[in-house]
Amino acid sequence: MAKKMKACKRCNAITDENECPLCGSEVAKEWQGYLIVIEHEHSELARKMGISTNGKFALKVRE
Ligand SMILES: [Zn+2]
Repeated sequence: MAKKMKACKRCNAITDENECPLCGSEVAKEWQGYLIVIEHEHSELARKMGISTNGKFALKVRE
């Protein structure tokens, strides 16, 4: 990733914006792991993490 990306503290979505484009929550600069969800309906991991849309998500976000 060229730019320093951030991750949403609430839904874990990865973004370069200063607020989450999905839920409008605060974003954190410190996060770990990277998950690309392309078929959230069929993804066990997405379901466990409460992800209900396709996109890029962090596995862990520092509060
Ligand atoms: Zn969010």
